[in-house]
Amino acid sequence: MKRAASLKRQPPQNTPCDACGGRSFKRKTTTFPFPLPTGQTMNVAGIQVQECLDCHALAPTHQGKLKLARCLSTFMSLPDKI
Ligand SMILES: [Zn+2]
Repeated sequence: MKRAASLKRQPPQNTPCDACGGRSFKRKTTTFPFPLPTGQTMNVAGIQVQECLDCHALAPTHQGKLKLARCLSTFMSLPDKI
């Protein structure tokens, strides 16, 4: 059987925590404070994150990042963003 060499490898599910290097996470959907280019922070509801079980830092999952990117592009298209 031939393998599809063009398929990209999935990144490992458990990347270490940015803050403490821990590898135990709990997935949840929550409101995530997203820093904007304007210096403000936008609280985006319904973002998939993984919570570090050691230091409780939140990191958006791949799906969460995609949603944040969509929210950001929506925000940037608003006429009165200042
Ligand atoms: Zn941590």
